[in-house]
Amino acid sequence: MLEAKCHCGNVELKVDRLPETVTQCNCSICFRYGVLWAYYKPEEVKITFNVEPTKTYSWLKKVIDFHHCPICGCITHYSSTDVTDWECVAINAKMADKDIINKIPVKESDGPGD
Ligand SMILES: [Zn+2]
Repeated sequence: MLEAKCHCGNVELKVDRLPETVTQCNCSICFRYGVLWAYYKPEEVKITFNVEPTKTYSWLKKVIDFHHCPICGCITHYSSTDVTDWECVAINAKMADKDIINKIPVKESDGPGD
């Protein structure tokens, strides 16, 4: 089980399994965010908003919505959008317990499709 939450506790994400790897993406946006992605199918991830829903940011081909907590600003996850058949929710593993995440191998990527 992987449990992740933003700094203020507004956004909580839960999945039944730990990822085998987490991905450090070096594309122009992920590098700025400083995130580590754990990829799942959308139906695997339970997302709870305790106070307010996330705000999103999308760019270029708009195949991904990047979600952040409107209160504390943490990037919590991204989700694929309706403009693509590809379905994915990526949890920002930095929102989870660092003692758990630091034991998972990190893969490097240069961007979507890599
Ligand atoms: Zn928050």
